[in-house]
Amino acid sequence: MKVIELMLLLIPKMVASSMHILIFFYEKEEMEEFVLHLLVLSHAFVVPQLKQECVRQLEQGLLTMENVIDIFQLALLCDAPRLGFICHRMIMRNFIAISATEGWQAMKQSHPFLEKELLESLIYEENRQKERIRKLNERRIYLQLYEAMEALVHICRDGCQTIGPHDKDFKGNQVPCRYAACKGLELLVRHFAGCKLRVPGGCVHCKRMWQLLELHSRLCTNSNVCGVPLCRNFKERIRIQSKKEEIKWTLLVEKILRTKTITGAPFFSW
Ligand SMILES: [Zn+2]
Ligand SMILES: [Zn+2]
Ligand SMILES: [Zn+2]
Repeated sequence: MKVIELMLLLIPKMVASSMHILIFFYEKEEMEEFVLHLLVLSHAFVVPQLKQECVRQLEQGLLTMENVIDIFQLALLCDAPRLGFICHRMIMRNFIAISATEGWQAMKQSHPFLEKELLESLIYEENRQKERIRKLNERRIYLQLYEAMEALVHICRDGCQTIGPHDKDFKGNQVPCRYAACKGLELLVRHFAGCKLRVPGGCVHCKRMWQLLELHSRLCTNSNVCGVPLCRNFKERIRIQSKKEEIKWTLLVEKILRTKTITGAPFFSW
């Protein structure tokens, strides 16, 4: 008889205070074979060291796709919250494979409420993940707008590549531009200046340019000296805007300003 089998026979008969000695006798392979039994027994007979050892072994390598559902149920039964959490995480991450195992089918029969709870947490996790992606995409858009705002002031004030203020000779001084959005904006400005498409309100590119110019005006703190086209005109128009429009723009401005607060003061104004 193996030591561990002897332990399983003896455990129910032993007093809790002397049982901790037993954990020193097991072999690794035997532990693997009987770890689930030992977990239940050590919990039932209050042998914390043995229980801790079982939990540790399970957490550190004995969990598989096949046994995780059984171990999850045991973790709940034996009050092992960390082990339960690790199992839960594994089930959520590998749901398709794990829901096809025998363990899942057995749980479905014996504890339908647990299956329901797991399915509910899966939906919750999926929604959380979608929300995270939505936020990341949203942040990316605000960051692009932020960079476009910086590049717009840079083009109108310093000039860059082929475009810049009339009163400034910027073409001789072509150091590599440090504004990522500059190239795209340069193309947009050139289009805007020469657009021949006769669409009401402008073509899609021109509309974009109008929006960027208006956004600049709303972020600009000194329109009186600003050289960005229409900056002052938009400021005048803002005074007579509707409440709805004001709220929409205020929210957008707040979100853009919040995207890069750690990198220092924004460079949006003249
Ligand atoms: Zn540039
Ligand atoms: Zn156009
Ligand atoms: Zn301005």
